Amino acid sequence: MNATRPTLLQLGPIHPPCQAQVDAAHDVVKAWTLDPAARETAIAGIADRCEAILTNGGRGADAATMARLPRLKLVACHGVGVDAIDLAWCRAHGVAVTNTPDVLTEDVADLALALLLATVRRIPQADRFVREGRWLEGPFGLTPTLQGRRVGIVGLGRIGQAIAKRCAAFGCEIAWQGPRDKPGQPWPRHADVVSLAEWADVLIAACPGGEATRHAVSLAALEALGPVGVFVNIARGSVVDQAALVELVVQGRLGGAGLDVFDDEPRVPAELIASDRVVLQPHQGSATDETRGAMARLALSNLAAHFAGRPLLTPV
Ligand code: NAP
Repeated sequence: MNATRPTLLQLGPIHPPCQAQVDAAHDVVKAWTLDPAARETAIAGIADRCEAILTNGGRGADAATMARLPRLKLVACHGVGVDAIDLAWCRAHGVAVTNTPDVLTEDVADLALALLLATVRRIPQADRFVREGRWLEGPFGLTPTLQGRRVGIVGLGRIGQAIAKRCAAFGCEIAWQGPRDKPGQPWPRHADVVSLAEWADVLIAACPGGEATRHAVSLAALEALGPVGVFVNIARGSVVDQAALVELVVQGRLGGAGLDVFDDEPRVPAELIASDRVVLQPHQGSATDETRGAMARLALSNLAAHFAGRPLLTPV
């Protein structure tokens, strides 16, 4: 161990070009690269001095892992969603958590719009149609329009608002649902998700994951959206009742879905993979080179602030 560098337990990869900075500034155990036995040994070997964990939104940090580090003070997340971090355990043990808000907002909102446009205008299907030479046999056919559609946004936070602005620019009507009123916002709020879905042609989930929002987009909400309605999820797989979503898609009782996130990533239900009604992404919301770089720099700055005794930049 280099005594001049603080010890860090890293649970998952971050933006690859920034990994060198993590390595230069810390004595790092890269847990995800080790087999279970080697991981156990490595964590035991740093337990007496490790104050910080670096993780990402997907891997989070569970209580069992954190409990093995009695000197733990900080979990720095490379991502804004902290639903995979045991926040209750962190609170109970005085462990601070940081995330990477704001820097990813625009890219995630862009992907929501890309999924919306791709689903409504059937862009991947039409792309396949051209590649397979079927255009030579006749036209692709008509799709619905996005113009004038009613878009309901579940969770009008940073990303939700960025989506709302984009949808307004695309000629859509906006409404939203969330736990608190937002007096500064021009768009009407609905009391619950089913009422929003009854009003909407398109429902976009942009709220946090975790127990509080589990299946917030329920079977009833998807049914209310109906056979010409479209559901877009850039939030978390847990936010929607995925079994209900699959059933309605297969039965043609939901018009379409654009999905970036799933219950058990990277596993995606075979019915969705087989369906022509859905557009699928492998959790790409923030996955641009620029944004992942900004996320990594912010996570690193939070670690540096902790080790220098300065205030954290973006505490949760
Ligand atoms: P944010 O600014 O904290 O916004 C979250 C919003 O959700 C807030 O407005 C919050 O309401 C609202 N909310 C909380 N509980 C709710 C509930 N039960 N029902 C409806 N709305 C609820 O966070 P953000 O930066 O916009 O990020 C939102 C989420 O997007 C993240 O937590 C993450 O899961 C997801 N995300 C996905 C990707 C991706 O790659 N697909 C990338 C980044 C983020 P209040 O304002 O009243 O608190």
